[in-house]
Amino acid sequence: MSVHVINEAKRCLQCKKPMCRLKGCPIETNIPEMIRLFLEGNGLEAAAMLFANNPMSMFCSLVCDHEKQCEGHCVQGIKGSAIHISSIEHYISDAFFEKLVLEKEAPKGKKVAIVGSGPAGMVVAVVLAQKGYDITIFERKDKIGGMMRYGIPEFRLPRTLLERYGKKLRELGIHIRPNTTIGGALHLDDLFGDGYKAIFIGSGTWRARRLGVPGESLGNVHYTIDYLQSPEAYELGDTVAVIGAGNSAMDAARTALRRGARFVSIYARGLKSSASEREVEYTLADGVDIFYGMGVKEITDKGPVFVKREYDENGNLVSEGEPELHEADSTIIAVSQRPKDKLVNTTHGLDSNDRGLLEVDEKGQTSREGIFSAGDVVTGPLNVVKAARAAKETAENMAAYLESL
Ligand SMILES: Cc1cc2nc3c(=O)[nH]c(=O)nc-3n(C[C@H](O)[C@H](O)[C@H](O)COP(=O)(O)OP(=O)(O)OC[C@H]3O[C@@H](n4cnc5c(N)ncnc54)[C@H](O)[C@@H]3O)c2cc1C
Repeated sequence: MSVHVINEAKRCLQCKKPMCRLKGCPIETNIPEMIRLFLEGNGLEAAAMLFANNPMSMFCSLVCDHEKQCEGHCVQGIKGSAIHISSIEHYISDAFFEKLVLEKEAPKGKKVAIVGSGPAGMVVAVVLAQKGYDITIFERKDKIGGMMRYGIPEFRLPRTLLERYGKKLRELGIHIRPNTTIGGALHLDDLFGDGYKAIFIGSGTWRARRLGVPGESLGNVHYTIDYLQSPEAYELGDTVAVIGAGNSAMDAARTALRRGARFVSIYARGLKSSASEREVEYTLADGVDIFYGMGVKEITDKGPVFVKREYDENGNLVSEGEPELHEADSTIIAVSQRPKDKLVNTTHGLDSNDRGLLEVDEKGQTSREGIFSAGDVVTGPLNVVKAARAAKETAENMAAYLESL
């Protein structure tokens, strides 16, 4: 592994205008600098630089869509193969993680509450803790990580990384209250009452979107975000149909195969998948069949019923075939998510739009003063690096707000 990573690093041309960083990376990781420091034997400095720019570096190096992002913009890829930037980043951010010393400013004597321990919440927690604020994370589940733990499967993101990350959060003095839903016994206003000066909401999108066809409540039908939270709780049988064609559909299908299903098929409504090319390739390599242009009409005890959809060259639907049963022991619905409405329903004056997403201004502040938000609960389901970037910017705005109090 290390020899391969070093060889890859040596191929970097140290471009003056590094497109991998400027065009490819949503959080503008200084890739040439990372590689230069690493090759000079300053891996720890490289790791510190990566963490300071993106506290989610260790995870992003595994789960970002690198082919579209950094590696897709590497000049070496124009005539040959792009540098395997993700492996280099992962090697550095993993190997030096425990050695990272995270500096902390003197205590500011102000408490900040964070709702949710997904990437957005963890980034805000780290940034503000380092600035000297007293941070408490309230997390509905028993463990930290959000969709990185309860969505992305273990075979793509080992959970040991999250355990190591949790240790780092505690080293920074961050308090974590697991199994605590804000909007349950405690409401956001209680937190202000207890002296928190600002609140960050990074609660993500945890309500499955329905298909809106008959049969969704049958005993052998499940939503992918429920399934992926604890696949061991399900007995799917031999044949599994997955409806939807994004990354979470691919993850559900690949997880079902690993847990003993023998025949797994993905059914997409359109003509292409919205998942990353790499995920589709792996899914096919794992033995999943993917059918495109399949409109679901209903789900029965024996499996979903589809009509074949025909499109013209402009992508307009021109016709639909006859309904046909595709037999399956279980059906998993994977057609996106939206936020739960607990926080909005229990907080006076917290505005959301018609998709249930929280409304924020350019500083990430919600319609309630002192309550900020970023990540999927604001944008809808996106990805880790975009949640991290938005959270990092919002944390800076929160610091300015806290200074002004
Ligand atoms: C199956 C699947 C696969 C994915 N694959 C990838 C991938 O390969 N690459 C990638 O970059 N992204 C991927 N994503 C998307 C990525 O995981 C999310 O975009 C990202 O985690 C969003 O971060 P967040 O912090 O906004 O929200 P989340 O990660 O959803 O975290 C929100 C946290 O808030 C907690 N919470 C919610 N409500 C409350 C409350 N009221 N009180 C207390 N706590 C609360 C939740 O329990 C959760 O821990 C995937 C998502 C899924 C579902």
